[in-house]
Amino acid sequence: MSVEQTEEQKPVREIRINPIVPTESVLVATARSMRPRKAEEPAPRDTRRHVDTCPFCRGNEDKTPPQIARYPKDDDWQMRIVENLYPVLGDDRSQPSFVYGLQQAIDGYGRHEVIVDHHQHGIAVHEMSHEHLSSLFHVYQQRMAELYQMDERLKYVLVFKNFGPAAGASMAHTHSQIIATPVVPQNVHDEVSYSKAYFDRHHQCIFCSLIDEALTFEATIYDRGSGEVVRKIDVGQYVVEKGEKFIAIKPFASRYEWEVHILPLQHQSNFLDTPKDDLDDLAQVMQRTMARLDAVIGGAQFNFFLHSLPQGEESQSCHASYHWHLEICPRTSIPTGFELGSGLFVNTISPEEAAEQLRSVQL
Ligand code: AMP
Ligand code: ZN
Ligand code: ZN
Repeated sequence: MSVEQTEEQKPVREIRINPIVPTESVLVATARSMRPRKAEEPAPRDTRRHVDTCPFCRGNEDKTPPQIARYPKDDDWQMRIVENLYPVLGDDRSQPSFVYGLQQAIDGYGRHEVIVDHHQHGIAVHEMSHEHLSSLFHVYQQRMAELYQMDERLKYVLVFKNFGPAAGASMAHTHSQIIATPVVPQNVHDEVSYSKAYFDRHHQCIFCSLIDEALTFEATIYDRGSGEVVRKIDVGQYVVEKGEKFIAIKPFASRYEWEVHILPLQHQSNFLDTPKDDLDDLAQVMQRTMARLDAVIGGAQFNFFLHSLPQGEESQSCHASYHWHLEICPRTSIPTGFELGSGLFVNTISPEEAAEQLRSVQL
C-alpha cells in the first residue's frame, strides 16, 4: 500500500487564526484518528404543520405571555412576537449590582422575546418562501430598532435562532429570539475593536478585504529548493453562494464544520441600515445557503445570529471598520473537554472541502 499522498489527500492539521479576532483560533484536523469529537446522529426533525398542544401554533395565542406584535394583524398571522415565558433577562430588579472583593455582578436587566417566525410548526428555513424570509428580516429590523429606541440602557440587541435539539432548541415550533442586554457581548465587542484596529492600520474594513479576497485571490506557493508546488490557495473556493447584494462565505478559520457567514457585498456597519428592498436578496442567499446545508448535512440543526454595530456612543467611530453579518453554525458534533479546556474549537472537515461540497449541491 502506498503511503504517498497527493496535496489534495493530505490531512489538514493546523491551527488557523481567526483573521478578524486573532485571539480566537481553530484546530483544523481532518484525519479521522484526530477526531476528539463524536459525530452526532441527527435527531429526527418535527415536520408537522400544526400541533394542537403547541403554544406557538395558531389558535393557541393565549398560551404565550402578552403579544408584542403580529404580522399581519388578523387571525391568519404569519409571524408573532411575544414576551418570553421564561426570560433569561428581565426588567424586574432581582438584586442590585454589586462588587464584593473579586466578585462583581451586574443586574440581569434586559429583554428576552420570542419571534414565532412562521405559523407552520415544523417548517425549516430553506422551506420558507423568499417573501416570508424577507418579511422576517424586516421584522427583526423593526423590533431591534424599537428596543434600541425604547431604552438607552440596552447596549446590544442580539437576534438569534436555535433550530433542532442539537442546537439547544427546547421548542420544536420554528422560532427566533431577541435578547437585549445591558452590556455589549464580549464577542461582538472583540469583533468591533479588532476590526477598528485593522482599519486604523490599513485604512480598510477587514470584512470587505476578506470578501475581496474571497472573490479574487489566488496564489500558488512553491518550494524554494525543488520548485514543487507546496500549496495552492484559491480563496475563491470559500464562496458558497452569491446574490446581487449578499455573499455567503465559508470562513477560513471556521469553528464549526459547516459554519457559513452571510455578509452584505457593499460595506455596511449596521443591519438596521439595510434597505427593505435589499432584504429580498438577503432572503434568497439565506434560503439557498440553508438548502445547501440541509442537502449536505441531511436535516440541518443550527444556530444563527446577527452581529451588527452596537448603537451606543462608543461604537460611533466604527462605522467604516465594522461590517454586519449573519453567522450560521450548524451543530453536527458536541464540544468536548478539549474545547472547553483549551478554548480551541476543533473542526474535522477542512473549510475548503466543506465549501466545495456545499457549492456542488444542485439546487
Ligand atoms: P429554545 O429553547 O431555543 O427552543 O427557545 C424557546 C424559548 O421559548 C425559550 O426561551 C423559552 O423560555 C420560551 N418559551 C417556552 N414556552 C413558551 C411560551 N408558552 N410562551 C413564550 N415563550 C415560551
Ligand atoms: Zn407549533
Ligand atoms: Zn466592510
